Amino acid sequence: MSQRTKIKALLQSQQTEIDVTVKGWVRAFRSNRFIALNDGSTNNNIQIVVDFENTDPALLKRITVGAALSVQGKLIASLGKGQTVEVVASDIEILGDSDPEKYPIQPKKHSLEFLREHAHLRFRTSTFGAIFRVRNSLAFAVHQFFQERGFVYLHTPVITASDAEGAGETFHVTNFDLDNIPKTETGEIDFKQDFFGRATNLTVSGQLEGELGAMALSDIYTFGPTFRAENSNTTRHLAEFWMIEPEVAFNDLVDNMDLAEDMLKYVIKYALDKNADDIEFLTQRLTEEEKTKPQNERSEMTLLEKLQFCLNNDFERLTYTEAIDILKESTPNKKKKFVYPIEGWGTDLQSEHERYLVEKHFKKPVILTDYPKEIKAFYMRQNDDGKTVRAMDILFPGIGEIVGGSQREERLDKLEQRMNEMGIPTEELWWYLDTRRFGSCPHAGFGLGFERLVLFVTGMGNIRDVIPFPRFPKNAEF
Ligand code: ATP
Ligand code: MN
Repeated sequence: MSQRTKIKALLQSQQTEIDVTVKGWVRAFRSNRFIALNDGSTNNNIQIVVDFENTDPALLKRITVGAALSVQGKLIASLGKGQTVEVVASDIEILGDSDPEKYPIQPKKHSLEFLREHAHLRFRTSTFGAIFRVRNSLAFAVHQFFQERGFVYLHTPVITASDAEGAGETFHVTNFDLDNIPKTETGEIDFKQDFFGRATNLTVSGQLEGELGAMALSDIYTFGPTFRAENSNTTRHLAEFWMIEPEVAFNDLVDNMDLAEDMLKYVIKYALDKNADDIEFLTQRLTEEEKTKPQNERSEMTLLEKLQFCLNNDFERLTYTEAIDILKESTPNKKKKFVYPIEGWGTDLQSEHERYLVEKHFKKPVILTDYPKEIKAFYMRQNDDGKTVRAMDILFPGIGEIVGGSQREERLDKLEQRMNEMGIPTEELWWYLDTRRFGSCPHAGFGLGFERLVLFVTGMGNIRDVIPFPRFPKNAEF
């Protein structure tokens, strides 16, 4: 019997008294007798029982935390507490030794900061095993959701010459020799000599190209890496993150909100069903962590309750203007508790305001619509009031903004006029404007930050812990 069985399957096995081969890494070894072995297929370890009296002492010594083993033995119903089955080993092979003195991941609680510095090994902890299995399920569920609805997965470029928002937080792409950058006669960088013959950058959003696809394929989505050179060292921003951007022809803002809400519920439900063990584990982890916080800062709900609550309740929908009225009258605003007091209409909401609305006022996910045009991108559809645009942001508890989207401006004259007002070069975006010249139609879309979704579903507090190798200011290790 050399066929390897994954630990997840063994733990669910209806049959016992069978010969099995199991492979994995040692999580713990106690009393020279019980190995906790894990292969990443599940958060739970399988217990291997070693007949230490009949095992070579030299081999026993090599069974250390972190070592890779192949074990043959019999799967039996366990007599001990904590597991239903275990493997009585008949043969143990060390596939890879580990040095217990030097191996950084010990069977004890490590801080998340420590594990971030050992991101190459943190997959081997229960917490990160759970996070990345949940992340995997969410990614799969995103595709399944859109595929079931006939959307086309469109691959938009990673290298672009446009900066969708004009925000300028881009990473340059060049193959210039940085010690010898070609200059024009007037001393500017001569991008004509660069690889693409023009200045290029890593994409900050696939939306503009996504719209081109939607204007023929009707329903498209992108799911790819996005790059922003934002120097904000927050727990919700990465320099490299993954974004999901559906774009749908003939949808208006209400359709757009429905799509986003359906999608979020679908993928969360999928993870709850598929990763019940992992979410149970992460729920306990968060509950333990909450206990270290002062009483008044603790969450009223466990992670599992929060996820279920999100599935069972309609998201609250209101306009930016209504939200400002609520915030103006709120206790923290009157008591001057906000770092950015709400004084009037027109300013952008800070995450403290978003979280007040979601966590204190409505106590559920919120969709805000119809923001002032001054604080939103040029492509959003202008309302008749001349002041607001058909934007929508979805705000989640503990996260703040998770989705940003809008109905798009499909009227060429209005779009050009807004671009001119905002100083966005219409000539450079000639291809984008062509969609408004030839068969323009109402359409809408949004961007979901994938890591913010994973943050919500795993209950983690820092976005750097839900992507395998986080990129942030002064860090590109691994
Ligand atoms: P924020 O105000 O939080 O910076 P944004 O308004 O810049 O967000 P959008 O440009 O609308 O965000 O991008 C769409 C989504 O992408 C956001 O709702 C968020 O979920 C995600 N997102 C944006 N910036 C980042 C980032 N730096 N790291 C991770 N996710 C991000
Ligand atoms: Mn931003």
